[in-house]
Amino acid sequence: MQKGFVFDINKCVACQACVVACQIENLDLEELVSEEKWAKQIPWRNITIHNEFQHPELPVFNFSMACNHCEDAPCMSNCPALAYTRNQDFGAVIHQAEACIGCRYCTMVCPYDAPKYNPFTGIIEKCTLCVERLADGKKTACASACPTGALDFKPIQISPQNIEGFPETGIKPAIEIKKLHNDSTPKQEYNYSVLKQVDIIRELNLEEKKKNVLLSEWPLLIFSLLIPLLVSAFYASFSKGFALNKLGFIGTLVLAGVLSLGHLGKKLRAWRVILNIRNSWLSREILAYSLFVPAASLWLYYPRQNELGLIATILGLLILVAIDNIYRKAPSKLDNKYHSADVLFFTAFLYVAIFVSNPWMFYAAIALKVYLYITRKLSFKSAGENIRPVFSVLRVLLGFIIPAILFFLLSFNTVNYAVLILVILGELIDRIEFYMEL
Ligand code: SF4
Ligand code: SF4
Ligand code: SF4
Repeated sequence: MQKGFVFDINKCVACQACVVACQIENLDLEELVSEEKWAKQIPWRNITIHNEFQHPELPVFNFSMACNHCEDAPCMSNCPALAYTRNQDFGAVIHQAEACIGCRYCTMVCPYDAPKYNPFTGIIEKCTLCVERLADGKKTACASACPTGALDFKPIQISPQNIEGFPETGIKPAIEIKKLHNDSTPKQEYNYSVLKQVDIIRELNLEEKKKNVLLSEWPLLIFSLLIPLLVSAFYASFSKGFALNKLGFIGTLVLAGVLSLGHLGKKLRAWRVILNIRNSWLSREILAYSLFVPAASLWLYYPRQNELGLIATILGLLILVAIDNIYRKAPSKLDNKYHSADVLFFTAFLYVAIFVSNPWMFYAAIALKVYLYITRKLSFKSAGENIRPVFSVLRVLLGFIIPAILFFLLSFNTVNYAVLILVILGELIDRIEFYMEL
């Protein structure tokens, strides 16, 4: 029977003994004594104190969490650089530091916040399940150090989880959780609906986390903003003769790629990003992009080569499919299958409509995006999430209403650059919100 963590929520007092034991077990002595090196350590195990601000209508409990060494680990299957391996003896998901390119995609697809990006080393660090201790017949260091018996490591039945407060992920984490006993806290009627949104946001530190995602992901935000625009412009040029400025197009295309490289913690290992074509949409995206750049550039100079134009168009489409799928792998708060910022059907469709001045395509794409945007905001509202009213108003006005009026008034036969710029601004706002929702 496989062993895994057993965590009893009722017993954890947030003493941090497991966190410290993990650091002692996994750091060099030199690193422990050097203050400078100590400051650069990112703990692999974290304690979350729920209801730190003692809100009277929320239960109080603590949660100790590291990697759960999931049976269907998305970090491993989605890593583009094949930096994760499985330890066959104990089922541990092991991160190989020398193979990691620091793209942080695993941090996005892990629902438990287990892979930690270390900005000082430029790579991910993660719990090793103390496999060397296990091989010696010992328990993991964190479980051994727990003074209350809240965290243990023993044989468990790995099954899909369905525990309140623990996300249902279907990836079979190797952990069992003992629920909060109903009689362990003072009797009270929890009425979540009366909580003001600001309290919940402060409680869970959500806004801070979203800001961090946005700051760390901005090169990808720019990449995913520019690529649908460029692929659509190329398609309009290939199929409808839209006049493209060759050098401007190629320069922006290359710039988008160079910018996205800036996101990697280990840029010299960037070549590894295409190693997991079999499973990772990130690998597929970068391979398709790397082939699209020469194919599209060559076609611009040899426009009679229809096969080349067709190949470039297919590669462009593949990049868009990959971009949407990369983000679909990230756990989402909402069930909505489609997002108004999805690049393939909605955004690229809208850009092509502008480039070829097709009113039917244009208004259909705007209508679809408005529908998706508003239904998403309504879902957020009913889930008690922040709907970001300023963003929403700007997005609808700049990205939908004004371009729709301008398109009607000004352009049916020529490309309207005022409409294009406003639509790009609207897409930028949508993209920013999209990253904030990750
Ligand atoms: S907890 Fe996260 S990092 Fe650990 S195996 Fe599961 S998905 Fe991967
Ligand atoms: S290469 Fe990227 S996905 Fe793979 S472990 Fe490193 S940061 Fe995570
Ligand atoms: S199993 Fe080992 S590496 Fe993982 S959190 Fe516990 S002490 Fe740290």
